[in-house]
Amino acid sequence: MSEITGQCLCGSVTYRTEAEPLRMAQCHCKGCQRASGTGHMSLAFFKEADVTISGDVSSHTTVADSGNENIRAFCPTCGARMFGRNSSRAGILAITAGTADDNSWFTPQAIVYNQDKPIWDQMDGDLPTFDTMPPAPN
Ligand SMILES: [Zn+2]
Ligand SMILES: [Zn+2]
Repeated sequence: MSEITGQCLCGSVTYRTEAEPLRMAQCHCKGCQRASGTGHMSLAFFKEADVTISGDVSSHTTVADSGNENIRAFCPTCGARMFGRNSSRAGILAITAGTADDNSWFTPQAIVYNQDKPIWDQMDGDLPTFDTMPPAPN
């Protein structure tokens, strides 16, 4: 992988990184459903220090089942959901895969919060699937 670039719908928030994602997953939790307006979020996790973000974002914080804070950042102009941070994973940034200019590299490695998955949101049944959030790999 060479460089990943992306932007929000209106283009006022952009990002770039030359890093490889640490891991990639699709999350069906109700928070991701409400924040995305669809059945899941496709998330690629990077070291935050490896990602350069330009433009101002707004954010909304919720408390996850674990008690950790889940901070979702979005463009204040167009509302595109861009980045996620979790208080239990300092220094890790989740990027919503759909915001990448070319997102053909996205390869989900796990499905999480499958217990909340809508029946109409079909996923690859061969992927490792977890009812909730599996313990974070270290
Ligand atoms: Zn925007
Ligand atoms: Zn989620």
